[in-house]
Amino acid sequence: MTEVQLMDLVEQSMRRRDHQPRGRYAPSPTGPLHLGNLRTALLAWLHMRLLDGVFVLRMEDLDLPRVKKGSAESILRDLGWMGLDWDEGPDKDGPFNSYTQSQRFPIYHAVLARLQQAGRVYACMCSRKDVAEAASAPHGNTPVYPGTCRSRGDVEVMARQLGRNPSFRLNVQESGQIDVDDEVAGHWTCHPAEEMGDFVVLRADGLHSYQLAVAVDDCLMNITHVVRGSDLRSSTPKQMLIMQTLGFDPPRYLHVPLMLDHDGRRMSKRDGSQSLANLRSQGVKAETIIANLAASCGLIEPACDAISSVELLQELNLEKFTQILFKRQQGSESQQRSD
Ligand code: GLU
Repeated sequence: MTEVQLMDLVEQSMRRRDHQPRGRYAPSPTGPLHLGNLRTALLAWLHMRLLDGVFVLRMEDLDLPRVKKGSAESILRDLGWMGLDWDEGPDKDGPFNSYTQSQRFPIYHAVLARLQQAGRVYACMCSRKDVAEAASAPHGNTPVYPGTCRSRGDVEVMARQLGRNPSFRLNVQESGQIDVDDEVAGHWTCHPAEEMGDFVVLRADGLHSYQLAVAVDDCLMNITHVVRGSDLRSSTPKQMLIMQTLGFDPPRYLHVPLMLDHDGRRMSKRDGSQSLANLRSQGVKAETIIANLAASCGLIEPACDAISSVELLQELNLEKFTQILFKRQQGSESQQRSD
């Protein structure tokens, strides 16, 4: 895709902005959906249906080595079985085709070329280990890249001589403070240079990074509201910076609490016991699962043991929905602080 074609695409998306709310659920087909994934999907679906907007399903099969065969199909089946329908998606054409990331590589490539032309990215030969060792002030669990390759002009030449491919990082040193007004997690700020560091937009294996692809897709698909798990909160400023370079305003964000397993740990796709396929094979009904998921985040009373997605929608309104989740998220943060 050329720069001119990219400009066309950006303009088309901007022209199609009609103030209709648009939300999305964006699963990665790296294994079967577990209950935690499903709860996030349910919340994203409820939120967009409460807003009377368009719900988009985007298949994030960007990380090809991690994609599991048959997983995308089983995700569509699982969501459909739960009564979470979508208006545009891999199997439902819409104005922003394609809704499968592996079919959008030329778009990501054109955005990367634009960032390169603008002098915003640079080649980097540091491995994850190098970064971890060199990082002086880690923020959270992720070390901040110290900028080792930022001002070296010879990285690409050196990489070629060594027969290796560099990764490419977005330079965030000049980026000012980023303010995120999260409707569930509250207002917070980020100082990219100190807290986040220059981050990878093209991986050394030639694949575009999650941050680049998600930011580009949310812009070009005119997503107005992003409901996703709070584990992705730290990605938000990165994605907002990429959106800025495309001239788009960021969507509204709602980072919702993650569902924990019996031992209080984050659920993982590796633990098949919590997968929907497994529960379904034991004869558990969709209404029972929805009731459990909705009760687990306070949307309904725990006494309710079966409810369909549509009945649940009728029980709620937007204000109630957002307030309950806001309180939950604040509660889980103060719980984490006191642990
Ligand atoms: N594909 C990502 C995941 O499954 C979610 C991306 C997003 O919601 O921004 O974790």
